[in-house]
Amino acid sequence: MDNFFSVIIILGALLLVASLKTTFKVCKKTSQRAWSVLLCAIVCFILGYWWILYYFSNYDTAPIIRNAVATILFGGAGFVFLVVKLSLKSILKIEQATQYQKYQTEHDNLTTLPNRNNFFKSLSKQVDYPSSFALFYIDLNNFKQINDAFGHQCGDQLLAAFANKLSKELCGIAKLYRIGGDEFAFLLNTDTDESMAHCVNIINSAVKAPFCTHEQMVKIQLSIGVSRFPDDSRLPDQLLKKANLALHEAKKTFQPLVNYSPEIGKRAEDFFDLSVKIKAALHKGEFELYLQPIMNSKDIQLHGLEALIRWPQADGSFISPEKFISVAERTGLIFVLSKWVVQEAVNHIRKLKLFGFSGTIHVNLSTKDIESSEFYEFIISLLTTDPTLSDSLIFEITEGAMMTNIPAARKMMQQLSMRGFKFSVDDFGTGFSSLSLLRELPINQIKIDQSFIKDMLINPPDYAIVESTLFLASRLNCDVVAEGIETKEVEQALLSMNCDYLQGYLYSKPINIDEFINVYLSTEKVS
Ligand code: C2E
Ligand code: MG
Ligand code: MG
Repeated sequence: MDNFFSVIIILGALLLVASLKTTFKVCKKTSQRAWSVLLCAIVCFILGYWWILYYFSNYDTAPIIRNAVATILFGGAGFVFLVVKLSLKSILKIEQATQYQKYQTEHDNLTTLPNRNNFFKSLSKQVDYPSSFALFYIDLNNFKQINDAFGHQCGDQLLAAFANKLSKELCGIAKLYRIGGDEFAFLLNTDTDESMAHCVNIINSAVKAPFCTHEQMVKIQLSIGVSRFPDDSRLPDQLLKKANLALHEAKKTFQPLVNYSPEIGKRAEDFFDLSVKIKAALHKGEFELYLQPIMNSKDIQLHGLEALIRWPQADGSFISPEKFISVAERTGLIFVLSKWVVQEAVNHIRKLKLFGFSGTIHVNLSTKDIESSEFYEFIISLLTTDPTLSDSLIFEITEGAMMTNIPAARKMMQQLSMRGFKFSVDDFGTGFSSLSLLRELPINQIKIDQSFIKDMLINPPDYAIVESTLFLASRLNCDVVAEGIETKEVEQALLSMNCDYLQGYLYSKPINIDEFINVYLSTEKVS
């Protein structure tokens, strides 16, 4: 046997052994039977190699035939080696891509924390075990404002820095997940008061120092809602929902942490029921707009009126606007409701004008209305049908509503006052920094809150507030309406202080339009 034959046969055999090893790896990664068949074929190929080697060693054959057979066999071995090697490479690449995709679907890009899907998987697994645990749901307070003030890039950096810090602090205790936006959650494998308190201390220490992002030092404050397994629920989605409800309660009541309780659940249920009822009531046209007169203090005659929404019930009672307006605000239904109120007020003005009414109608707006450009467009669209409308409408906005978003309030109020509309600060004195509002916003009128009027004759501080508000308003060229007047004595006191306009049960409770026309306007229509 010559050297060429020996070398090529040995190389071919080595290639086959290497292919065998690679095919074995592929077989372990895939469940396809074809690869096991290939594995057997390679083993047969190797046996065939040894048989050929044995044959040519023992039987004399022409070198040219021997070398040709060896070359063909080597080519076959090389082919098998290449196919198997490339297949393994492709399988590994696909495996890597799948793993990456899996990572992406289970992790959050910004913070690299495991995400909501991942959290829900862990939560679902955890409820299969009998041991109790607590679900912590965390939300950053005022994150929207931070984003607005410093920009989204800074907001992102802040989230990443916070996530990094808190997950490090919680290391060994719990795994932190990003649920979405500025919401995070984790499961604490015990719900004893001591371990919960320890955990809260850890969270507090993580946000004690301000975070430095984009050369800004930003202090973070958190709200936390907690639900417990199995006391609050045995179902993963219920536990998450209940922790979320507790979190909302924490935000609403300005508490750092709230544990879920059945009362919180009941309130949420009532809230949901009421929002469904409001939607249906809007659809069925159940709301009515009542009118309460505002009297001119000079002659105690009708000057204007305030439109107040009423929701009559089947049993003859009314649901208080204070109750359903806040629900409408939180569910976004307020836009439809406020548009209905304004449209109905416009209809009322038209009707009242036919009976000789020439005063103004006050309409209450909510915080959300003054933030909405759609609502602004709606008001402007009303002017196209009646350009004199702005002389008849005064918008009442509570001090609190103006304070919630001063830039938005300023923009909307300035734009509307350029179109001739006037603004009145409702419930003046009940919010914070009332005085700076008067400087910053185009305000024409102040309505002193009824809580000051009611007891002004028996409570000297209330009297002093009413007196100084009247003085301040006169210096700022604002009209003043005193609301909630119920007695002649209070009326007299306000007259002696030169209060411009008076409103209260002393004159009339809010009444429907027909009654209003009957009592205050001539029954003869003005032609
Ligand atoms: P508000 O705008 O300050 O309205 C005055 C509230 O005081 C009215 O209660 C009125 O019925 C009541 N009131 C008037 N005079 C007296 C009085 O002499 N004594 C007493 N005890 N109360 C008096 P109402 O109608 O229950 O409305 C409560 C609040 O609900 C309103 O306070 C206003 O903030 C809101 N609201 C009412 N209607 C609307 C509306 O159409 N849209 C919006 N966004 N809010 C509304
Ligand atoms: Mg009002
Ligand atoms: Mg008021």
